Amino acid sequence: MNAPLRVPIEVPTTPLMDPIPSLSERIALMAHARALLAEQNAVLVAHYYTDADLQILADQTGGHVADSLEMARFGRDHRAATIVVCGVRFMGETAKILSPHKRVLMPNLDATCSLDLSCESDVFAKFCDDHPDRTVVVYANTSAAVKARADWVVTSGIALAVVKHLKSQGKKIVWAPDRFLGSYIQRMTGADMLLWHGSCVVHERFKAEALTQLKKQWPQAVTLVHPESPPEVIDQADVVGSTSALIEAVRSLDAPVFIVATERGIFHKMKEAAPGKLLLEAPTAGEGATCESCARCPWMAMNGVRELISVLKSGENEIHIDETIRKRAVIPLDRMLEFAKRKTLRIHGNA
Ligand code: SF4
Repeated sequence: MNAPLRVPIEVPTTPLMDPIPSLSERIALMAHARALLAEQNAVLVAHYYTDADLQILADQTGGHVADSLEMARFGRDHRAATIVVCGVRFMGETAKILSPHKRVLMPNLDATCSLDLSCESDVFAKFCDDHPDRTVVVYANTSAAVKARADWVVTSGIALAVVKHLKSQGKKIVWAPDRFLGSYIQRMTGADMLLWHGSCVVHERFKAEALTQLKKQWPQAVTLVHPESPPEVIDQADVVGSTSALIEAVRSLDAPVFIVATERGIFHKMKEAAPGKLLLEAPTAGEGATCESCARCPWMAMNGVRELISVLKSGENEIHIDETIRKRAVIPLDRMLEFAKRKTLRIHGNA
């Protein structure tokens, strides 16, 4: 049986943030946030796709800017009693799964992810039950309840290695939720994979034809693509990789120009990593474009310094996970961490 039909995802399109603050307001807001973090014994962990000011604040205050799993691991290993997760909901949940005794706060609990939304836990559980002969592998961009139903949780940085490993054991796989990442891994490994139908509203909008034109205009450019993108876009990449891998490519490759197909928040860390290099956004415009997201995740955009201050003052937006679900969800997460340790692999990487 194929995966159940896709359900429409409601993507926020109205402005969700207050007007952009002036420079002096930004400085004052950041000073206020720094003071509150210290006062609350809280550490700030931010995803690469969040607002640059949050990334700067995380770096300035001894926090961390990373992918979701690295964010969660950093929070777990940090001495702070409170972890403030700037990103989307599944990232806060992953932090809580690994740090059950810490307080995990988020600037906005409505900040979610189209992949997470596409994979409703009981529908997914039923689908897995219908395929008892398959190993269930889920991407990190899923709820705690979906992780609890999985045999493995993977990031984009480790997914290929895990699937290769399972294939070598003769395992057939249920993969969820991102169909583009799933089909990329399927193509790379030849594994027998039954794919869920989810997609990222940002990466699915990169346009192959417009990218071909841009590459013609910039023949010296290296093209970097996140594997949540459509296959025709991935096929034009010089480097396909996770967020961390793409930042590393900009830093280490000897090229003056890069075309980047992933969420535009990543440009902050890329510019830091390679200040002299020219970074071009891969096109989201072109035939069939709606430009709803324009390489900006509408849910990541719900995080701002004002929201961070508000949550630090109120203590609202704490993440809670049912302990039975948490105990089950930590098993496939730990399995991946253990696998990465054995293989000395980096696990960086979801959106
Ligand atoms: S960029 Fe895509 S994968 Fe990442 S949080 Fe937004 S919708 Fe989800």
